[in-house]
Amino acid sequence: ADPETVGTSPAPGDPASSKGKLVIISGPSGSGKSTVTKRLREVCPLPLAASISATTREPRDGEVDGVDYFFLSEEEFQRRREAGEFLESKQVFSLGHWYGTLADQVATGLNAGKWVILEIDVQGALAVLEDHRYAPITIFIHPGSMTELERRLRDRGTETEVAIQARLKTAAGEMESRSVYQHQVINDTVDQAVDEICHILQIHKESTSCSKN
Ligand code: 5GP
Repeated sequence: ADPETVGTSPAPGDPASSKGKLVIISGPSGSGKSTVTKRLREVCPLPLAASISATTREPRDGEVDGVDYFFLSEEEFQRRREAGEFLESKQVFSLGHWYGTLADQVATGLNAGKWVILEIDVQGALAVLEDHRYAPITIFIHPGSMTELERRLRDRGTETEVAIQARLKTAAGEMESRSVYQHQVINDTVDQAVDEICHILQIHKESTSCSKN
């Protein structure tokens, strides 16, 4: 073997070489996780960064390409998928939209020492957990009850009845998988859920720095 390469640090882009951490936040559509995650990044004193996912769904009113998601055509999504650009990708709803985490978003954040937040569904979380290069902190946000979830989805007013029913069905399945997560947080109020998650992350920070000493 080339002595130059034996025992050297992992290659750039290898998650093992970075100071950053991966944080997975999941929760049914309508659980309020986007609002909670956005607020978390504003108030929690850790170097948090959002990984911007790609999707084939249409932007909702007010959503911006490259900020909320990279909104891709089906062709572009599949081309990038075949090129291996996704860490994980899934067709999430029965309506057929694709969603995926871009490997580059994660590597760039981790290499910069960030705590990269993946706001992804349960299947996506399981795919990342199976990839043993990562040891993510996993958090499941739920709305308390299915009734509350349905109320929030309807109040949002952005979805057709068919889409609401599809999201409720997916949500019921996701609620059943929540024990896979290290932490569960009920989103009664945004501020309280944000405080709780920030506290969880700070405990992980302390336990990581202790185990390094
Ligand atoms: P929405 O259409 O409401 O923005 O998102 C629908 C669902 O897709 C949510 O549960 C969200 O967490 C999930 N999602 C968003 N981005 C990704 C991703 O990159 N990968 C996976 N697997 N799910 C995602």
